[in-house]
Amino acid sequence: MSARVIAIDGPAASGKSTVARRVASALGWVYVDSGALYRAVAWKALKDGINTEDAEAVGRLADVLNPEFEMRDGAVIFRVDGREPGMELRTDRVNASVSRVAAMPTVRERVSSWLRSLTRFGNLVMEGRDIGTAVFPNAERKFYLDASPEVRARRRHAEILAQDTKASERQVGESLRKRDLVDSTRVAAPLRVAPDAVVIDTTDLTIDDVVEKVLAMAGVKEQGGSCKNGKG
Ligand code: C5P
Repeated sequence: MSARVIAIDGPAASGKSTVARRVASALGWVYVDSGALYRAVAWKALKDGINTEDAEAVGRLADVLNPEFEMRDGAVIFRVDGREPGMELRTDRVNASVSRVAAMPTVRERVSSWLRSLTRFGNLVMEGRDIGTAVFPNAERKFYLDASPEVRARRRHAEILAQDTKASERQVGESLRKRDLVDSTRVAAPLRVAPDAVVIDTTDLTIDDVVEKVLAMAGVKEQGGSCKNGKG
């Protein structure tokens, strides 16, 4: 029997990560953060001194990059060059270049094929930008989470304050806005609401509210389990 997929798409800091982790945990399915793989390509390019505006060079890097995937605590994690990049994927430099790298068709093809291969780990709750529109167009349930730009900036700012950042809420909002613009206007698999997706505006909802809604609409029997909260 082929694996089942729930797709949770939406712009940065719309609540996808935390909701997707909690939904996966409740269902006993496997959580996948697809954005981490785009971040890994950008991170590795920066680390190797590759110009992140050079689509050919970045495409060549993506072709030879071979992340090793495994399951841990109900989520798929990966190593690049034998180690987990962890928080190095979330630096300002990676934030500033990841959308440009993710707009490159060769990078998207490569990352999408990694993502499709992850069904070997079981039923998936995968969050991203194009999971319901391009990676798994036949996903059995698709959700699109959104929230006002102000609320998204506030949430992301609060998260990164916990990591000792000096960035203001306005600066965080500006960085999200730039990424959203590139993500939604690129030619290859832009951020879009899939025609068969359920749209949830999380602006005035708590995480618990959103998780409850998604589980109610997912139509999948809960199996229980536990999983830590994610990045947003
Ligand atoms: O989810 P996160 O914000 O970490 O994603 C980082 C970037 O990766 C996004 O801004 C977008 O450019 C890219 N991305 C994408 N398609 C996905 C997931 C992420 O293009 N499915």
